[in-house]
Amino acid sequence: MSEEKSRNFLEEIIEEDLNSGKYKQIITRFPPEPNGYLHLGHASSICLNFGLTKKYPGYTNLRFDDTNPVTEEVEYVDSIKDDVRWLGFEWKHELYASDYFDQLYDFAVRLIKKGLAYVDDSTSDEMAAMKGTPTEPGKNSKYRDRSVDENLDLFARMKAGEFEDGTRTLRAKIDMAHINMLMRDPVIYRIKHAHHHRTGDKWCIYPMYDMAHGQSDSIENITHSICTLEFVPHRELYDWLIEKLEIYPSHQYEFARRNINFTVTSKRKLLQLVNDKYVTGWDDPRMPTITGLRRRGYTPESIREFCDRIGIAKRENIVDVGLLEFCLREHLNKISLRRMVVFNPVKVIITNFPNEKELLETENNPEDPGSGTRQLPFTREIYIERDDFMENPPKKYFRLAPGQMVRLKSAYIIKCEEVIKDNSGKVAELHCTYLPESKSGNDTSGTHVKGTLHWVNVADAVKIEVREYDRLFRVEDPSSEEGDFKDYINPDSLKVVTGFAEPAIKNARFSDRFQFLRKGYYCLDKDSSEEGMIFNRTVTLKDDWAKQVKKGS
Ligand code: ATP
Ligand code: MG
Repeated sequence: MSEEKSRNFLEEIIEEDLNSGKYKQIITRFPPEPNGYLHLGHASSICLNFGLTKKYPGYTNLRFDDTNPVTEEVEYVDSIKDDVRWLGFEWKHELYASDYFDQLYDFAVRLIKKGLAYVDDSTSDEMAAMKGTPTEPGKNSKYRDRSVDENLDLFARMKAGEFEDGTRTLRAKIDMAHINMLMRDPVIYRIKHAHHHRTGDKWCIYPMYDMAHGQSDSIENITHSICTLEFVPHRELYDWLIEKLEIYPSHQYEFARRNINFTVTSKRKLLQLVNDKYVTGWDDPRMPTITGLRRRGYTPESIREFCDRIGIAKRENIVDVGLLEFCLREHLNKISLRRMVVFNPVKVIITNFPNEKELLETENNPEDPGSGTRQLPFTREIYIERDDFMENPPKKYFRLAPGQMVRLKSAYIIKCEEVIKDNSGKVAELHCTYLPESKSGNDTSGTHVKGTLHWVNVADAVKIEVREYDRLFRVEDPSSEEGDFKDYINPDSLKVVTGFAEPAIKNARFSDRFQFLRKGYYCLDKDSSEEGMIFNRTVTLKDDWAKQVKKGS
Protein backbone atom coordinates (compact mmCIF):
# COMPACT_ATOMS: atom_id res chain seq x y z
CA MET A 1 0.00 0.00 0.00
CA SER A 2 2.90 2.36 0.64
CA GLU A 3 4.24 2.20 -2.94
CA GLU A 4 1.59 4.58 -4.17
CA LYS A 5 1.96 7.00 -1.31
CA SER A 6 3.13 10.41 -2.38
CA ARG A 7 6.41 11.74 -1.05
CA ASN A 8 6.35 13.83 2.08
CA PHE A 9 7.92 17.29 2.16
CA LEU A 10 11.19 16.03 3.64
CA GLU A 11 11.53 13.37 0.96
CA GLU A 12 10.98 16.07 -1.64
CA ILE A 13 13.71 18.26 -0.14
CA ILE A 14 16.10 15.32 0.11
CA GLU A 15 15.51 14.16 -3.46
CA GLU A 16 16.17 17.68 -4.66
CA ASP A 17 19.37 17.85 -2.62
CA LEU A 18 20.54 14.51 -4.00
CA ASN A 19 19.57 15.29 -7.59
CA SER A 20 21.24 18.69 -7.56
CA GLY A 21 24.43 17.09 -6.25
CA LYS A 22 24.34 19.16 -3.05
CA TYR A 23 24.85 15.91 -1.16
CA LYS A 24 26.02 12.46 -2.21
CA GLN A 25 24.48 10.93 0.88
CA ILE A 26 22.30 12.21 3.67
CA ILE A 27 23.07 11.97 7.35
CA THR A 28 20.33 12.23 9.95
CA ARG A 29 20.35 11.73 13.69
CA PHE A 30 17.91 10.72 16.38
CA PRO A 31 18.78 12.91 19.40
CA PRO A 32 16.97 11.80 22.57
CA GLU A 33 17.66 13.39 25.89
CA PRO A 34 18.27 10.42 28.25
CA ASN A 35 15.80 11.66 30.86
CA GLY A 36 13.05 9.07 30.41
CA TYR A 37 11.86 6.17 28.32
CA LEU A 38 10.92 6.57 24.67
CA HIS A 39 7.24 6.86 23.77
CA LEU A 40 5.09 6.72 20.66
CA GLY A 41 6.02 10.27 19.70
CA HIS A 42 9.67 9.29 19.64
CA ALA A 43 8.79 6.23 17.58
CA SER A 44 7.48 8.56 14.92
CA SER A 45 10.74 10.54 14.96
CA ILE A 46 12.81 7.32 14.89
CA CYS A 47 10.86 5.89 11.95
CA LEU A 48 11.26 9.19 10.14
CA ASN A 49 15.00 9.67 10.68
CA PHE A 50 16.02 6.05 10.18
CA GLY A 51 13.42 5.57 7.46
CA LEU A 52 14.90 8.36 5.35
CA THR A 53 18.38 6.86 5.37
CA LYS A 54 16.95 3.44 4.58
CA LYS A 55 15.25 4.93 1.56
CA TYR A 56 18.12 7.19 0.46
CA PRO A 57 21.90 6.70 0.57
CA GLY A 58 23.35 7.69 3.91
CA TYR A 59 23.05 6.82 7.57
CA THR A 60 21.57 7.83 10.92
CA ASN A 61 23.38 8.47 14.20
CA LEU A 62 22.00 7.87 17.65
CA ARG A 63 23.03 10.90 19.64
CA PHE A 64 22.28 11.30 23.30
CA ASP A 65 21.54 14.91 23.97
CA ASP A 66 23.01 14.76 27.46
CA THR A 67 23.92 18.36 28.17
CA ASN A 68 21.71 18.67 31.24
CA PRO A 69 23.53 16.81 34.02
CA VAL A 70 20.69 16.81 36.52
CA THR A 71 17.95 14.78 34.87
CA GLU A 72 19.93 12.15 33.02
CA GLU A 73 20.59 8.56 33.93
CA VAL A 74 22.37 5.55 32.49
CA GLU A 75 19.20 3.46 32.87
CA TYR A 76 17.58 5.70 30.27
CA VAL A 77 20.51 5.43 27.86
CA ASP A 78 20.29 1.64 27.95
CA SER A 79 16.52 1.57 27.52
CA ILE A 80 16.67 3.96 24.58
CA LYS A 81 19.18 1.78 22.73
CA ASP A 82 17.10 -1.27 23.47
CA ASP A 83 13.92 0.37 22.19
CA VAL A 84 15.45 1.69 18.95
CA ARG A 85 16.84 -1.77 18.18
CA TRP A 86 13.55 -3.42 19.04
CA LEU A 87 11.79 -1.09 16.62
CA GLY A 88 14.08 -2.56 13.98
CA PHE A 89 16.68 0.15 13.41
CA GLU A 90 20.46 0.19 13.68
CA TRP A 91 22.44 3.40 14.04
CA LYS A 92 25.80 4.11 12.44
CA HIS A 93 27.46 5.85 15.42
CA GLU A 94 26.46 5.97 19.05
CA LEU A 95 27.35 9.48 20.17
CA TYR A 96 26.96 11.74 23.16
CA ALA A 97 26.72 15.51 23.08
CA SER A 98 28.79 15.42 26.27
CA ASP A 99 31.70 13.99 24.23
CA TYR A 100 31.80 17.37 22.52
CA PHE A 101 32.09 19.45 25.70
CA ASP A 102 35.72 20.37 24.97
CA GLN A 103 34.92 21.30 21.41
CA LEU A 104 31.84 23.26 22.45
CA TYR A 105 33.93 25.15 24.99
CA ASP A 106 36.39 26.04 22.21
CA PHE A 107 33.48 27.19 20.05
CA ALA A 108 32.36 29.49 22.86
CA VAL A 109 35.88 30.89 23.17
CA ARG A 110 35.89 31.45 19.43
CA LEU A 111 32.72 33.52 19.72
CA ILE A 112 34.20 35.57 22.57
CA LYS A 113 37.33 36.26 20.53
CA LYS A 114 35.18 37.46 17.66
CA GLY A 115 33.40 39.82 20.01
CA LEU A 116 30.22 37.78 19.63
CA ALA A 117 29.78 36.56 23.19
CA TYR A 118 30.12 38.06 26.65
CA VAL A 119 29.96 37.08 30.27
CA ASP A 120 26.97 38.57 32.01
CA ASP A 121 26.78 38.94 35.81
CA SER A 122 23.06 39.67 35.81
CA THR A 123 20.77 37.32 37.71
CA SER A 124 18.12 35.44 35.76
CA ASP A 125 15.46 37.82 37.13
CA GLU A 126 17.42 40.83 35.95
CA MET A 127 17.87 39.26 32.54
CA ALA A 128 14.17 38.49 32.28
CA ALA A 129 13.38 42.10 33.14
CA MET A 130 15.67 43.35 30.36
CA LYS A 131 14.40 40.90 27.76
CA GLY A 132 11.55 43.10 26.49
CA THR A 133 8.39 41.66 24.96
CA PRO A 134 7.48 40.56 21.44
CA THR A 135 6.37 44.15 20.76
CA GLU A 136 8.98 46.04 22.78
CA PRO A 137 12.74 45.82 22.37
CA GLY A 138 14.88 44.61 25.27
CA LYS A 139 17.63 46.54 27.04
CA ASN A 140 21.34 45.95 26.78
CA SER A 141 22.99 44.51 29.85
CA LYS A 142 25.56 46.74 31.48
CA TYR A 143 28.07 43.89 31.03
CA ARG A 144 27.53 43.71 27.29
CA ASP A 145 30.54 45.78 26.37
CA ARG A 146 33.15 43.96 28.39
CA SER A 147 36.45 43.59 26.56
CA VAL A 148 37.38 40.37 24.86
CA ASP A 149 40.16 39.82 27.37
CA GLU A 150 37.90 40.31 30.34
CA ASN A 151 35.36 37.92 28.83
CA LEU A 152 38.02 35.30 28.15
CA ASP A 153 39.26 35.59 31.71
CA LEU A 154 35.80 35.39 33.27
CA PHE A 155 34.72 32.48 31.08
CA ALA A 156 37.88 30.55 31.99
CA ARG A 157 37.18 31.22 35.67
CA MET A 158 33.57 30.07 35.20
CA LYS A 159 34.98 26.83 33.87
CA ALA A 160 37.49 26.62 36.72
CA GLY A 161 34.65 26.61 39.22
CA GLU A 162 35.30 30.01 40.81
CA PHE A 163 31.66 31.09 40.73
CA GLU A 164 28.44 29.81 42.19
CA ASP A 165 25.49 28.49 40.18
CA GLY A 166 23.44 31.27 38.64
CA THR A 167 25.92 34.08 39.27
CA ARG A 168 27.15 34.41 35.70
CA THR A 169 26.27 33.24 32.21
CA LEU A 170 27.82 33.44 28.78
CA ARG A 171 25.56 35.12 26.26
CA ALA A 172 25.74 35.45 22.51
CA LYS A 173 25.95 39.10 21.50
CA ILE A 174 23.30 39.47 18.82
CA ASP A 175 20.62 42.13 19.13
CA MET A 176 18.46 43.03 22.12
CA ALA A 177 15.89 44.57 19.77
CA HIS A 178 15.62 41.51 17.52
CA ILE A 179 12.11 40.64 16.48
CA ASN A 180 12.83 37.01 17.39
CA MET A 181 13.07 36.97 21.20
CA LEU A 182 15.45 34.01 21.07
CA MET A 183 17.97 36.21 19.25
CA ARG A 184 18.05 38.76 22.08
CA ASP A 185 21.46 37.80 23.41
CA PRO A 186 20.55 34.21 24.32
CA VAL A 187 22.35 32.50 27.17
CA ILE A 188 24.66 29.88 25.69
CA TYR A 189 26.50 28.63 28.81
CA ARG A 190 25.44 28.42 32.44
CA ILE A 191 27.15 27.46 35.65
CA LYS A 192 25.92 24.26 37.22
CA HIS A 193 27.96 22.44 39.81
CA ALA A 194 26.48 19.05 39.16
CA HIS A 195 27.78 15.54 38.55
CA HIS A 196 27.29 14.37 34.97
CA HIS A 197 26.60 10.71 34.18
CA ARG A 198 29.49 10.57 31.70
CA THR A 199 31.84 13.45 32.37
CA GLY A 200 31.64 13.17 36.15
CA ASP A 201 32.82 16.33 37.91
CA LYS A 202 35.00 17.58 35.09
CA TRP A 203 32.61 20.37 34.18
CA CYS A 204 30.71 22.92 36.20
CA ILE A 205 29.56 24.91 33.17
CA TYR A 206 27.22 23.37 30.63
CA PRO A 207 26.14 24.56 27.17
CA MET A 208 22.49 25.44 26.62
CA TYR A 209 20.44 23.53 24.04
CA ASP A 210 21.07 26.05 21.26
CA MET A 211 24.81 26.06 21.85
CA ALA A 212 24.97 22.26 21.78
CA HIS A 213 22.45 20.91 19.33
CA GLY A 214 23.37 22.59 16.07
CA GLN A 215 27.07 22.35 16.90
CA SER A 216 26.76 18.61 17.52
CA ASP A 217 24.90 18.32 14.22
CA SER A 218 27.71 20.19 12.53
CA ILE A 219 30.48 18.12 14.13
CA GLU A 220 28.76 14.98 12.81
CA ASN A 221 28.12 16.51 9.38
CA ILE A 222 24.40 15.98 9.75
CA THR A 223 22.79 17.11 6.50
CA HIS A 224 19.15 17.16 7.57
CA SER A 225 18.55 17.87 11.23
CA ILE A 226 14.90 17.07 11.81
CA CYS A 227 13.07 18.29 14.88
CA THR A 228 9.58 19.19 16.00
CA LEU A 229 7.76 22.46 15.34
CA GLU A 230 8.49 24.14 18.66
CA PHE A 231 12.04 24.60 17.37
CA VAL A 232 11.04 26.76 14.41
CA PRO A 233 12.02 29.99 16.26
CA HIS A 234 15.36 28.39 17.16
CA ARG A 235 16.30 27.91 13.52
CA GLU A 236 17.53 31.48 13.19
CA LEU A 237 19.89 31.04 16.13
CA TYR A 238 20.91 27.61 14.83
CA ASP A 239 21.97 29.21 11.54
CA TRP A 240 23.56 32.26 13.22
CA LEU A 241 25.83 30.15 15.41
CA ILE A 242 26.91 27.92 12.53
CA GLU A 243 27.63 30.94 10.36
CA LYS A 244 29.59 32.84 13.01
CA LEU A 245 31.56 29.77 14.05
CA GLU A 246 32.26 28.99 10.40
CA ILE A 247 31.55 25.29 10.85
CA TYR A 248 29.83 22.64 8.69
CA PRO A 249 26.40 23.96 7.68
CA SER A 250 23.81 21.47 8.90
CA HIS A 251 20.21 22.50 8.25
CA GLN A 252 17.25 22.22 10.54
CA TYR A 253 13.82 21.08 9.32
CA GLU A 254 10.70 20.86 11.43
CA PHE A 255 7.68 18.59 11.47
CA ALA A 256 4.65 18.45 13.76
CA ARG A 257 4.90 16.65 17.08
CA ARG A 258 2.77 13.52 17.11
CA ASN A 259 0.19 13.20 19.82
CA ILE A 260 -2.12 10.23 20.30
CA ASN A 261 -5.55 10.51 21.89
CA PHE A 262 -6.41 9.08 25.32
CA THR A 263 -2.78 9.20 26.42
CA VAL A 264 0.06 11.63 27.03
CA THR A 265 3.32 11.71 25.10
CA SER A 266 5.66 13.67 27.30
CA LYS A 267 8.45 12.08 29.28
CA ARG A 268 7.91 14.53 32.11
CA LYS A 269 4.24 13.55 32.46
CA LEU A 270 4.94 9.86 32.06
CA LEU A 271 7.55 10.13 34.81
CA GLN A 272 4.87 11.57 37.10
CA LEU A 273 2.63 8.59 36.40
CA VAL A 274 5.48 6.29 37.38
CA ASN A 275 6.60 8.25 40.46
CA ASP A 276 3.06 8.74 41.76
CA LYS A 277 2.35 5.02 41.20
CA TYR A 278 -0.57 5.43 38.84
CA VAL A 279 1.15 2.70 36.84
CA THR A 280 3.55 -0.01 37.91
CA GLY A 281 6.53 1.38 35.98
CA TRP A 282 7.74 2.68 32.63
CA ASP A 283 6.89 -0.71 31.16
CA ASP A 284 3.37 -0.88 32.52
CA PRO A 285 1.36 -2.26 29.57
CA ARG A 286 -0.96 0.77 29.71
CA MET A 287 1.90 3.19 29.09
CA PRO A 288 2.48 4.66 25.59
CA THR A 289 6.19 3.95 26.05
CA ILE A 290 7.90 1.61 23.62
CA THR A 291 8.76 -0.67 26.52
CA GLY A 292 5.15 -0.64 27.74
CA LEU A 293 3.75 -1.34 24.28
CA ARG A 294 6.24 -4.15 23.88
CA ARG A 295 5.22 -5.76 27.14
CA ARG A 296 1.59 -5.31 26.15
CA GLY A 297 2.23 -7.42 23.03
CA TYR A 298 2.64 -4.79 20.31
CA THR A 299 4.95 -5.76 17.47
CA PRO A 300 7.60 -3.48 15.96
CA GLU A 301 6.00 -4.08 12.57
CA SER A 302 2.68 -2.67 13.72
CA ILE A 303 4.26 0.44 15.23
CA ARG A 304 6.32 1.06 12.09
CA GLU A 305 3.23 0.63 9.92
CA PHE A 306 1.37 3.09 12.13
CA CYS A 307 4.15 5.68 11.90
CA ASP A 308 4.29 5.19 8.18
CA ARG A 309 0.55 5.68 7.79
CA ILE A 310 0.36 8.84 9.88
CA GLY A 311 3.34 10.14 7.95
CA ILE A 312 4.58 13.60 8.81
CA ALA A 313 2.71 16.86 8.98
CA LYS A 314 3.46 20.53 9.33
CA ARG A 315 0.59 21.19 11.68
CA GLU A 316 -0.05 19.65 15.09
CA ASN A 317 -2.92 17.23 15.36
CA ILE A 318 -4.01 14.34 17.50
CA VAL A 319 -3.86 10.90 15.95
CA ASP A 320 -6.57 8.36 16.78
CA VAL A 321 -5.26 5.45 18.83
CA GLY A 322 -7.78 3.41 16.79
CA LEU A 323 -5.43 3.60 13.82
CA LEU A 324 -2.61 2.18 15.90
CA GLU A 325 -4.87 -0.66 17.03
CA PHE A 326 -5.95 -1.27 13.47
CA CYS A 327 -2.30 -1.70 12.38
CA LEU A 328 -1.74 -3.95 15.37
CA ARG A 329 -4.70 -6.24 14.60
CA GLU A 330 -3.67 -6.52 10.98
CA HIS A 331 -0.26 -7.80 11.96
CA LEU A 332 -1.34 -9.95 14.89
CA ASN A 333 -3.96 -11.66 12.75
CA LYS A 334 -1.16 -12.89 10.50
CA ILE A 335 1.20 -14.14 13.18
CA SER A 336 -0.86 -15.17 16.21
CA LEU A 337 -1.30 -18.73 17.36
CA ARG A 338 -4.97 -19.51 17.89
CA ARG A 339 -5.95 -20.83 21.29
CA MET A 340 -9.26 -21.40 23.05
CA VAL A 341 -9.84 -19.83 26.45
CA VAL A 342 -13.14 -19.72 28.31
CA PHE A 343 -13.47 -16.80 30.70
CA ASN A 344 -16.78 -17.32 32.41
CA PRO A 345 -17.46 -21.03 32.13
CA VAL A 346 -20.58 -23.14 32.28
CA LYS A 347 -20.17 -26.89 32.16
CA VAL A 348 -21.55 -28.90 29.25
CA ILE A 349 -22.02 -32.64 29.60
CA ILE A 350 -22.26 -34.52 26.33
CA THR A 351 -24.36 -37.40 27.44
CA ASN A 352 -23.93 -39.67 24.39
CA PHE A 353 -20.13 -39.19 24.11
CA PRO A 354 -18.14 -42.29 25.15
CA ASN A 355 -16.36 -42.20 28.48
CA GLU A 356 -12.93 -41.62 26.95
CA LYS A 357 -10.66 -38.89 25.62
CA GLU A 358 -10.41 -38.09 21.93
CA LEU A 359 -7.47 -36.08 20.64
CA LEU A 360 -8.60 -33.68 17.93
CA GLU A 361 -6.10 -32.10 15.56
CA THR A 362 -6.43 -28.43 14.68
CA GLU A 363 -4.38 -25.74 12.98
CA ASN A 364 -2.42 -23.19 14.98
CA ASN A 365 -3.07 -20.34 12.60
CA PRO A 366 -5.22 -20.56 9.46
CA GLU A 367 -3.41 -17.44 8.14
CA ASP A 368 -0.04 -19.18 8.36
CA PRO A 369 0.15 -22.80 7.18
CA GLY A 370 3.74 -22.98 8.44
CA SER A 371 2.54 -22.63 12.02
CA GLY A 372 1.52 -26.30 12.15
CA THR A 373 -1.19 -27.99 14.17
CA ARG A 374 -1.90 -28.85 17.77
CA GLN A 375 -3.95 -31.43 19.64
CA LEU A 376 -7.11 -30.63 21.51
CA PRO A 377 -8.33 -33.17 24.05
CA PHE A 378 -12.09 -33.67 23.91
CA THR A 379 -14.27 -35.59 26.40
CA ARG A 380 -17.88 -35.61 27.53
CA GLU A 381 -17.27 -32.70 29.95
CA ILE A 382 -16.33 -29.35 28.52
CA TYR A 383 -16.66 -25.67 29.35
CA ILE A 384 -18.24 -23.06 27.14
CA GLU A 385 -18.77 -19.37 27.89
CA ARG A 386 -21.80 -18.76 30.04
CA ASP A 387 -22.63 -15.90 27.66
CA ASP A 388 -22.89 -18.33 24.76
CA PHE A 389 -26.05 -19.86 26.19
CA MET A 390 -29.51 -18.31 26.50
CA GLU A 391 -32.49 -20.00 27.97
CA ASN A 392 -34.98 -17.78 26.13
CA PRO A 393 -33.15 -16.54 23.09
CA PRO A 394 -34.45 -13.90 20.70
CA LYS A 395 -34.89 -14.71 17.01
CA LYS A 396 -31.68 -15.18 15.02
CA TYR A 397 -29.74 -16.26 18.08
CA PHE A 398 -27.21 -18.71 16.68
CA ARG A 399 -25.50 -19.74 19.87
CA LEU A 400 -26.64 -22.42 22.31
CA ALA A 401 -30.23 -22.54 23.58
CA PRO A 402 -32.60 -25.30 24.62
CA GLY A 403 -33.22 -27.58 21.62
CA GLN A 404 -30.74 -25.59 19.50
CA MET A 405 -27.53 -26.79 17.81
CA VAL A 406 -24.08 -25.23 17.55
CA ARG A 407 -20.67 -26.37 16.39
CA LEU A 408 -17.85 -26.66 18.87
CA LYS A 409 -14.78 -25.24 17.14
CA SER A 410 -12.62 -28.00 15.56
CA ALA A 411 -14.89 -30.64 17.15
CA TYR A 412 -18.54 -31.67 16.79
CA ILE A 413 -22.03 -30.29 16.50
CA ILE A 414 -23.91 -30.48 19.78
CA LYS A 415 -27.54 -29.97 20.70
CA CYS A 416 -28.79 -28.67 24.03
CA GLU A 417 -31.21 -31.21 25.51
CA GLU A 418 -31.60 -30.18 29.13
CA VAL A 419 -30.79 -27.24 31.40
CA ILE A 420 -29.80 -28.10 34.97
CA LYS A 421 -30.11 -25.34 37.55
CA ASP A 422 -28.88 -24.94 41.09
CA ASN A 423 -31.07 -23.96 44.05
CA SER A 424 -30.76 -20.28 43.27
CA GLY A 425 -32.02 -20.83 39.73
CA LYS A 426 -28.64 -20.27 38.13
CA VAL A 427 -27.70 -22.54 35.23
CA ALA A 428 -25.36 -25.20 36.66
CA GLU A 429 -24.91 -27.58 33.72
CA LEU A 430 -26.10 -28.05 30.21
CA HIS A 431 -26.81 -31.57 29.08
CA CYS A 432 -26.23 -31.99 25.37
CA THR A 433 -25.92 -34.71 22.77
CA TYR A 434 -23.45 -34.67 19.90
CA LEU A 435 -23.64 -35.82 16.26
CA PRO A 436 -20.85 -38.41 15.85
CA GLU A 437 -20.72 -37.82 12.06
CA SER A 438 -20.21 -34.07 12.41
CA LYS A 439 -16.50 -34.01 13.19
CA SER A 440 -14.81 -30.89 11.82
CA GLY A 441 -12.90 -31.60 8.62
CA ASN A 442 -14.85 -34.80 8.08
CA ASP A 443 -18.49 -33.80 8.52
CA THR A 444 -20.89 -36.25 6.91
CA SER A 445 -23.84 -35.37 9.13
CA GLY A 446 -25.52 -33.19 6.52
CA THR A 447 -26.43 -30.77 9.31
CA HIS A 448 -25.67 -27.07 9.00
CA VAL A 449 -25.47 -24.77 11.96
CA LYS A 450 -24.74 -21.08 12.05
CA GLY A 451 -22.96 -20.71 15.37
CA THR A 452 -19.48 -21.91 16.29
CA LEU A 453 -18.36 -21.74 19.91
CA HIS A 454 -14.96 -21.97 21.55
CA TRP A 455 -14.63 -24.43 24.42
CA VAL A 456 -12.10 -26.21 26.62
CA ASN A 457 -11.98 -29.70 28.03
CA VAL A 458 -12.74 -29.54 31.77
CA ALA A 459 -10.12 -32.06 32.86
CA ASP A 460 -7.30 -30.35 30.94
CA ALA A 461 -8.24 -26.71 31.42
CA VAL A 462 -5.35 -24.51 32.59
CA LYS A 463 -6.32 -21.69 34.89
CA ILE A 464 -4.66 -18.46 33.81
CA GLU A 465 -4.74 -14.84 34.95
CA VAL A 466 -5.63 -12.33 32.27
CA ARG A 467 -5.03 -8.59 32.55
CA GLU A 468 -7.48 -6.64 30.48
CA TYR A 469 -6.45 -3.08 29.73
CA ASP A 470 -8.48 -0.10 28.78
CA ARG A 471 -7.42 3.43 27.90
CA LEU A 472 -5.24 5.12 30.49
CA PHE A 473 -7.24 8.35 30.32
CA ARG A 474 -10.97 9.09 30.21
CA VAL A 475 -10.62 12.03 27.84
CA GLU A 476 -9.07 12.38 24.41
CA ASP A 477 -6.53 15.04 25.29
CA PRO A 478 -5.82 15.04 29.04
CA SER A 479 -3.10 17.68 28.66
CA SER A 480 -5.51 20.27 27.34
CA GLU A 481 -8.16 19.78 30.02
CA GLU A 482 -8.61 22.10 32.98
CA GLY A 483 -6.56 21.25 36.06
CA ASP A 484 -4.03 18.48 36.33
CA PHE A 485 -3.80 15.88 33.58
CA LYS A 486 -3.75 13.17 36.25
CA ASP A 487 -7.30 14.08 37.25
CA TYR A 488 -8.42 12.46 34.00
CA ILE A 489 -6.95 9.03 34.56
CA ASN A 490 -9.35 6.22 33.80
CA PRO A 491 -9.89 4.42 37.13
CA ASP A 492 -10.86 1.23 35.27
CA SER A 493 -7.87 0.91 32.98
CA LEU A 494 -6.95 -2.50 34.40
CA LYS A 495 -9.26 -5.43 35.08
CA VAL A 496 -7.90 -8.77 36.19
CA VAL A 497 -9.93 -11.85 35.22
CA THR A 498 -9.48 -15.61 35.23
CA GLY A 499 -9.50 -17.75 32.13
CA PHE A 500 -9.59 -21.49 31.50
CA ALA A 501 -7.26 -22.28 28.65
CA GLU A 502 -6.74 -25.33 26.48
CA PRO A 503 -3.65 -27.29 27.56
CA ALA A 504 -1.44 -26.16 24.63
CA ILE A 505 -1.16 -22.82 26.46
CA LYS A 506 1.37 -24.45 28.77
CA ASN A 507 3.99 -24.20 26.00
CA ALA A 508 3.60 -20.44 25.66
CA ARG A 509 6.83 -18.48 25.29
CA PHE A 510 7.31 -14.77 25.89
CA SER A 511 7.84 -14.15 22.20
CA ASP A 512 4.57 -15.84 21.21
CA ARG A 513 1.51 -13.90 20.18
CA PHE A 514 -1.89 -15.49 20.69
CA GLN A 515 -5.38 -14.98 19.49
CA PHE A 516 -7.83 -16.33 22.03
CA LEU A 517 -10.67 -17.23 19.70
CA ARG A 518 -13.53 -14.76 19.62
CA LYS A 519 -11.82 -12.67 22.33
CA GLY A 520 -8.72 -10.83 21.25
CA TYR A 521 -4.95 -10.91 21.10
CA TYR A 522 -2.84 -11.80 24.10
CA CYS A 523 0.75 -12.41 25.18
CA LEU A 524 2.48 -13.91 28.18
CA ASP A 525 3.45 -11.33 30.79
CA LYS A 526 6.79 -11.27 32.59
CA ASP A 527 4.99 -11.51 35.95
CA SER A 528 4.17 -15.15 35.16
CA SER A 529 5.71 -17.64 37.60
CA GLU A 530 5.62 -21.27 38.70
CA GLU A 531 2.36 -20.45 40.44
CA GLY A 532 0.62 -19.42 37.29
CA MET A 533 0.65 -17.96 33.84
CA ILE A 534 -0.34 -14.33 33.41
CA PHE A 535 -1.47 -12.93 30.07
CA ASN A 536 -1.87 -9.38 28.85
CA ARG A 537 -4.72 -8.56 26.57
CA THR A 538 -2.93 -6.70 23.82
CA VAL A 539 -6.08 -5.62 22.00
CA THR A 540 -9.61 -6.88 21.54
CA LEU A 541 -10.83 -8.33 18.25
CA LYS A 542 -13.41 -5.62 17.81
CA ASP A 543 -12.33 -3.14 15.23
CA ASP A 544 -14.01 0.25 15.44
CA TRP A 545 -11.48 1.93 13.19
CA ALA A 546 -12.09 -0.33 10.20
CA LYS A 547 -15.83 0.21 10.56
CA GLN A 548 -15.35 3.96 10.58
CA VAL A 549 -13.19 3.77 7.48
CA LYS A 550 -15.79 1.66 5.69
CA LYS A 551 -18.54 4.08 6.61
CA GLY A 552 -16.33 6.75 5.14
CA SER A 553 -16.53 8.92 8.23
P1 ATP B 1 9.36 14.89 25.83
O1 ATP B 1 8.55 16.14 25.83
O2 ATP B 1 8.55 13.65 25.89
O3 ATP B 1 10.48 14.91 26.83
P2 ATP B 1 11.29 15.64 23.96
O4 ATP B 1 11.06 16.26 22.65
O5 ATP B 1 11.81 16.51 25.04
O6 ATP B 1 10.02 14.89 24.40
P3 ATP B 1 13.70 14.33 23.30
O7 ATP B 1 14.37 13.21 23.99
O8 ATP B 1 14.33 15.67 23.37
O9 ATP B 1 12.24 14.41 23.86
O10 ATP B 1 13.34 13.95 21.79
C1 ATP B 1 14.12 13.21 20.92
C2 ATP B 1 13.57 13.39 19.55
O11 ATP B 1 12.25 12.88 19.48
C3 ATP B 1 13.50 14.86 19.18
O12 ATP B 1 13.98 15.03 17.87
C4 ATP B 1 12.05 15.19 19.31
O13 ATP B 1 11.70 16.22 18.44
C5 ATP B 1 11.37 13.87 18.95
N1 ATP B 1 10.06 13.77 19.57
C6 ATP B 1 9.77 13.81 20.88
N2 ATP B 1 8.44 13.74 21.09
C7 ATP B 1 7.86 13.66 19.87
C8 ATP B 1 6.52 13.57 19.41
N3 ATP B 1 5.48 13.57 20.26
N4 ATP B 1 6.31 13.49 18.07
C9 ATP B 1 7.34 13.50 17.23
N5 ATP B 1 8.63 13.58 17.60
C10 ATP B 1 8.90 13.66 18.90
MG1 MG C 1 13.44 17.39 25.62
